[in-house]
Amino acid sequence: MPHPAESHARAILKSVFGYDDFRPGQWEVIEAALAGQDVFAVMPTGSGKSMCYQLPALVAGGLTLVVSPLIALMRDQVGQLTRAGVAAASLNSMNSESEAAEAWDRLNAGDLRLLFVSPERLAGEGLVSRLRRLGVTRLAIDEAHCVSQWGHDFRPEYRLLAKTREALGGVPVTALTATADRQTRDDIAQQLFPNPPHLVVHSFDRPNLKLSFAPKDQPRRQIDEFLRSHRGGSGIVYCSSRNRTEKLADGLREKGWNALPYHAGLDQSVRNRNQDIFLQEDGVVVCATIAFGMGINKPDVRFVVHADMPGSIESYYQEIGRAGRDGLNADTLTLYGIDDMSLRRRQIDEKAIDDERRRIEHRRLNAMIDLCESALCRRSALLAYFGEETPSCPHGNAPIRCDLCGADAPELADATLDARKLLSAVARSGQRFGAAHLADILTGTATEAIRRQNHDGLKTFGVGQDKPKSAWTALTRKLFAAGALAEASVEHGGFCLTEKGEDILFGRETIALRADPHVDRRIRRAGRE
Ligand code: ADP
Repeated sequence: MPHPAESHARAILKSVFGYDDFRPGQWEVIEAALAGQDVFAVMPTGSGKSMCYQLPALVAGGLTLVVSPLIALMRDQVGQLTRAGVAAASLNSMNSESEAAEAWDRLNAGDLRLLFVSPERLAGEGLVSRLRRLGVTRLAIDEAHCVSQWGHDFRPEYRLLAKTREALGGVPVTALTATADRQTRDDIAQQLFPNPPHLVVHSFDRPNLKLSFAPKDQPRRQIDEFLRSHRGGSGIVYCSSRNRTEKLADGLREKGWNALPYHAGLDQSVRNRNQDIFLQEDGVVVCATIAFGMGINKPDVRFVVHADMPGSIESYYQEIGRAGRDGLNADTLTLYGIDDMSLRRRQIDEKAIDDERRRIEHRRLNAMIDLCESALCRRSALLAYFGEETPSCPHGNAPIRCDLCGADAPELADATLDARKLLSAVARSGQRFGAAHLADILTGTATEAIRRQNHDGLKTFGVGQDKPKSAWTALTRKLFAAGALAEASVEHGGFCLTEKGEDILFGRETIALRADPHVDRRIRRAGRE
């Protein structure tokens, strides 16, 4: 027999929201909130975190103040709650005067269960003391990672929330986030709670998502091939720039796909139209920047592709997390290349941030690069990043496996000899040339640039003729990812040796690498022809 509070909560879950059961983790958070405890919930995107503060607000009554960083999301939630018959409103900079006046009337009448505010609004003069007089019973902090410098989306106004809690009379707090690496988690708890809160960490494992990665070769062709195996389903292709979303959507349309662009620079009417088509029709491919997806509630997204490597595992996880929310199988593909890696590095180097922050961002990026170049099960690597211990491959006999656990998964092989050839070409050519030029040296291709630099006279010229150019370009990327090469200059690109690179070159260290599945295939094909 469930506890009476649980029965009551379940009854409201059913009557107001229409759900028969809690999702994993929800009841634990709700129970602690109903007991008046501080709760910190770390649960993945799509797991139903909002319910964890919505339901207690209805079960226990009173007024729950919800801090949320995105006005659009806030308005969305208020809309959904209002349609479900819940007394909710928001105070934000997009309110019309009459909306704000109505919210205040309802607050003064004690009529609201949930009030959503932005952290900026809360930091403004007088709001907190007015709310205190009205008697706030609980503070819910959504996207709580915004309070931490370690998080990927630091918002200075979040730092004031610990004081807000005091100013409201020390009300209990429910903080929620989908960002969970240990360091960020500890920092959030320390920033927001005077004493350790009740911590609920729900698994980040999404066994119904297939995780695949491929080095970027001809992205449009690779994406087209991927889409062919998902005909009829809808999905998202994330691109790193607005321009690329439009170009890719055009290219895919030419190939017959119902592809639409989406980014924050498009007219609002175009954005709304494309979003509606995505929500309502089948077989739609949205080529989007990361602006797309937040607050979009489409459970049957069948695939997510990253046309460019994401900048961190947090972003990667959040974006692939938009697929397969209905629990049915969904597929993901991430394309990555050396250009992505150096672009992301440069972006971090050029940011106006302090050294500590820069170090954190580089570490975050390195973790993403490691996942791309991983030689082990992706699912296990991903969960390990989020602090979850798993067997070395949690797939077991599961039908859905990542690209490294399937039957044709590439094995790790010693690559020291090839690495030495390449590193030697880097050293002998003066530590400033890019991947294509290095590949020309190794394959003995006397292009005009090679002749101009007299590189056809180098000792390493032609020592790698046994492999195609693409294999050498891929090796440059892997050595860069492994930290054996670094970018020679920000303006001109090109690579130089790191200490690790020197150690490999001079025989003090060996290196094992995984073959690129598609490069391998091409070599095999070339061998047959
Ligand atoms: P999150 O904030 O964790 O990303 P949301 O709160 O947006 O997730 O919830 C994701 C979806 O799950 C929403 O459509 C929500 O209505 C739905 N949902 C929440 N709780 C339940 C439940 N107990 N059963 C079924 N669906 C639920």
